Amino acid sequence: MSHRLYIPGPITVSEGTFRAMTQGMIGHRSKDFVTLYRSLQPGLQRLAGTTDPVYLSTSSSWGIMEGALRNVVAKKVLCCMNGAFSDKWLDVARRAGKEVGGLRFDWGKPVDPAAVRTELANGQYDAITFIHSETSTGTLSPLAEIMAVVREFPDVISIVDTVSSFSTVPIDKDALGIDVLITGSQKALALPPGLSFLSVSERARARATTLQGRGYYFDFLEFHANHEKGMTPSTPAISLIYALQHQLAQIEAEGIKTRYARHLRLNEKVRSWGKTRGFSLFPEEKYGTRGLTCFANTLNADLEAVNAALKSRFNCVIDGGYGKLKGKTFRISNMGDETDETIDTLINALDTVFSELGA
Ligand SMILES: *Cc1c(COP(=O)(O)O)cnc(C)c1O
Repeated sequence: MSHRLYIPGPITVSEGTFRAMTQGMIGHRSKDFVTLYRSLQPGLQRLAGTTDPVYLSTSSSWGIMEGALRNVVAKKVLCCMNGAFSDKWLDVARRAGKEVGGLRFDWGKPVDPAAVRTELANGQYDAITFIHSETSTGTLSPLAEIMAVVREFPDVISIVDTVSSFSTVPIDKDALGIDVLITGSQKALALPPGLSFLSVSERARARATTLQGRGYYFDFLEFHANHEKGMTPSTPAISLIYALQHQLAQIEAEGIKTRYARHLRLNEKVRSWGKTRGFSLFPEEKYGTRGLTCFANTLNADLEAVNAALKSRFNCVIDGGYGKLKGKTFRISNMGDETDETIDTLINALDTVFSELGA
C-alpha cells in the first residue's frame, strides 16, 4: 500500500516517469546507450550551471559523497555540520580513513562563511564538505558567500551536496567555483531512488590523479574516462536513466525559470499555511530552503496521530521530524512534480486533521 509522499525524500514519482522506466533494456556498451547518455548531459549541465561533465552513479548519494572524499582529500577535510546529513559526513570521512575537522553549527542554523574562513585559515585543510540545503532542518546555507570564502584558499577542493536544492533554486557551479557538486535521484528530481549525479571540476580530477585509495566504483578518473565514451564505468540502472530522460524533458518543457518559480510559490504556500495555524519555521525565515518546509512543532501536536490520520483517511504522509528533531519538528516536501492542486490537497487534509486534534 503506497501513500502519496510529502516527506522530503523519496517523494512521489509521476506515472509518466514510471512509464518511461518500462522501456526495453539496451546494452550499456551499445550505441543506443551512448546516444541516451549523451542526450542527458545538456539538461543536467544546465541545472548544475556547469560545462563540466555530469557523471551518473548507480548508488544513492552517500556512495558518491563517500567516494568524493576518497578522490580529493589528501591532507584533511573540513566538514561543516548543521544537521543530520552534514553531521554524518564527519563520520563517513573518518570511516574512509581521512583526517577530518568538524565545524559545528546548531541545527537549523546555516553554515556561516566567516567561520569557514577562520577555520580554513589554519592551513590544515585541502578539502571542505557542506550541504547547500540541509534536508533534516530545512535550512538553505548561503552558497555564493561560502564559495567566495572557499575560493580564497586555492588548495581547498569543495564538495557540495545539493540533494534537496538541485533544480528547486538556481545553482551556478562554474560561476561559484564549486569543484564537486552532488545530487541524488529521489528528492528534487522526483525519480525513484538508486541514481546519483556528480559534476567534477578539472581541478578536482587533477587532485584525484595524485591520490591512492580512490577505489574503483567511485573513482573520478573511471567516471571521466567512461564519460568521454558516453558511458558509465559499470552497468548502470538503465531504467532509472530512462526515467531521468523523461524528467529532464519535462523540466525543459516547463522551463527552468518556471520550475524555480513554482517551487518558490508552493513553498510560500506551505509556509503561510503553517504560520496561519501558529507554527513557526524551524530555521530563520530567510534561510528556509525552497524544496521543503521544516516547521517547529510549536503547538506540540501529536505528530504520530497526525500522520496516522493523514495515511488512513487522506492516503498521504508527511515527515514527523528527523533524528533528534523527531516529534519536535515536521517537514513537508514541495519538491519535484508538486502543483498548486497537490499542495492544496495536502493543506486541506492537514487542516482537517490538525483541527480535529485540537492543534
Ligand atoms: C537524502 C539526503 C542525502 C542522502 O541521500 P541517500 O540517497 O540516502 O544516500 C544526503 N544529503 C542530503 C542533503 C539529503 O537530503
